[in-house]
Amino acid sequence: TSSHAALVIIGTGMAGVGLARVLRRLGDQRSITLVSADSGDDYSKPLLSTGFAKGLEPEKLAQRSAAELGEELNAQMVIHTQVDELDVDNQTVLLEDGRVFGYDTLVLATGAAPRLPFSLEPSVAPRCFAINDLDDYRHFHSALGHGPARVAIIGAGLVGCEFANDLHAGGHHVSVIAPEGSLLPRLLPPPLGNALGDAFSEAGIHLHLGRSIDSITSESDEDIVLRLDNGDTVSADLVLMATGLAPRTALAESAGLSVSPSGIVVDRQLRTSHPNIYALGDVACVDGVNAMYVQPLQASAKALAATLSGTPTPVSFGAWPVVVKTPLLPVVAYPPTTTPERWRIEGEGGDISALAENKDGRLIGFALTGGCVRRKVELSRAAPALLG
Ligand code: FAD
Repeated sequence: TSSHAALVIIGTGMAGVGLARVLRRLGDQRSITLVSADSGDDYSKPLLSTGFAKGLEPEKLAQRSAAELGEELNAQMVIHTQVDELDVDNQTVLLEDGRVFGYDTLVLATGAAPRLPFSLEPSVAPRCFAINDLDDYRHFHSALGHGPARVAIIGAGLVGCEFANDLHAGGHHVSVIAPEGSLLPRLLPPPLGNALGDAFSEAGIHLHLGRSIDSITSESDEDIVLRLDNGDTVSADLVLMATGLAPRTALAESAGLSVSPSGIVVDRQLRTSHPNIYALGDVACVDGVNAMYVQPLQASAKALAATLSGTPTPVSFGAWPVVVKTPLLPVVAYPPTTTPERWRIEGEGGDISALAENKDGRLIGFALTGGCVRRKVELSRAAPALLG
């Protein structure tokens, strides 16, 4: 069977839904079809790493069901269905169930998928998780059960640290294992990463930093045992993999669109290398930048909606720092996009500010912990835009 919509959006994350919402707000009446491999429920992904502290049931995180969303947006929702192929010459998308959808305009908002650095043995795989959407949260939530569980988190980036803080606050026993020597290595210089590490350790989170994993094994239903490269072992009931995200570019790449390791290549108007095909959100690399957080995708949704409605509008990204949700020690970071000449680091205990400067002494990024996070606004004004 085949059908046609003026606009087909692949992906119902904050990028795809955000775009449809702005278009309707602008009064755009065209027919819209949204296709998603997941449940299509409307939820805020950043809240996933705040739910365990509050004991939130997955259904509390879903703001609207896919059906309600379709009604709100006056759009056709196609859920639990993967798009397998794009035929850019005939302007159609092929769904996994064999259906074919034609489009006048196609938007790729396929996000990013967890990167798993090693394969897992069948005996442990069912108890190893990645949480990157509401369906993943549902699975992990039900595996956690009711009592406190021992959770080993692999990875010390934003996702690993936020879940460590959140699961700990929810009463679970948390270990963090990562090859880097300090927490949030891509966002914080080591003295600030260490300050967060101290706050975690004092709270009772076990850190195994500078360590890689030799094996993850289990016999029958017993403990999962993670063996580290120094011979230490960590026992756990569940493993949470927080080992990074990779933009889902496969669909675009096999259709011949220009892609890079950072995402589908788009210009400031979010145009891909093919006519009538656009991309935004975690999958898109805009003029060389793929920030993978909410503010840039919201700015992109606004600009693209204007462009599609007839006012070509290039997007720009401000100096928007990332607010890391680690209540044990608040963190704000705006990492420099080029290697700084020096970091100016001041403060003591958990209250540290670090200013990255180039060789002319100009501020090109910053990182703040504890009480110093209140400098966020002042420093954001002084720092260069992410995409000016
Ligand atoms: P996604 O939400 O990944 O959506 C992708 C969509 O594409 C999904 O609907 C998927 O099913 C669909 N899809 C993919 N491939 C196909 C296919 N072939 N066929 C059909 N459908 C397909 N950012 C912040 O700014 N602040 C925060 O505090 C913050 N916290 C975060 C906490 C966590 C735990 C995580 C994981 C991320 C966080 N982020 C945060 C990042 C932010 O959530 C993401 O940048 C944003 O949600 C990405 O949205 P997206 O729509 O681009 O992608």
